[in-house]
Amino acid sequence: MSGEGKRENAFLGLGSNLGDRQSYLDVARRQLAAHPAVQIIQSSSLYETEPVGYLDQGWFLNQVVEIETILDPEELLLFTQEIENELGRKRLIHWGPRVIDLDILLYGNRVMNTPDLIIPHPRMYERQFVMVPLREIAPDLLHPDGISTRQHLDLLHIRGDAEKIRLFQG
Ligand code: ADP
Ligand code: MG
Repeated sequence: MSGEGKRENAFLGLGSNLGDRQSYLDVARRQLAAHPAVQIIQSSSLYETEPVGYLDQGWFLNQVVEIETILDPEELLLFTQEIENELGRKRLIHWGPRVIDLDILLYGNRVMNTPDLIIPHPRMYERQFVMVPLREIAPDLLHPDGISTRQHLDLLHIRGDAEKIRLFQG
């Protein structure tokens, strides 16, 4: 399976804005946990957020999950894409409606930039729907730039371009 088999903690961003959004997130989490090389450590609450980019679509349901894994980042990406495909994600419009989106936000303290995979996720620090659930489960986590989740979210608010977000009550 993976190279040295070193355990790493990674954070994944889950999002859905089509159909039964909560079920898609539930199934995605179950599929993640079903992999023998992936354990779920923590899951945030669900948050509802207005769409960014392509605006003519429903609100998203978002969640951040912490996992522990021996998969390397590329293997993890392939696995999350498998889950997206199984759940029937259609890539019709970039940043458009999708039943499930699984992003690798952070992978240990790793920084990488390849054609297929950029870590930390390139847009995470602009997105409340990532940073708010991440602060819920890992407020003091230090990112590869040495800045904590809490501080990153403060910086986002200071920039003042945040989309609407609310806790999802089910
Ligand atoms: P987005 O998540 O930005 O809405 P997509 O889910 O359609 O867009 O992702 C498009 C591509 O982004 C994927 O094919 C993948 O190769 C690439 N990508 C780069 N970095 C990451 C990352 N950290 N996590 C997930 N996908 C990534
Ligand atoms: Mg994605």
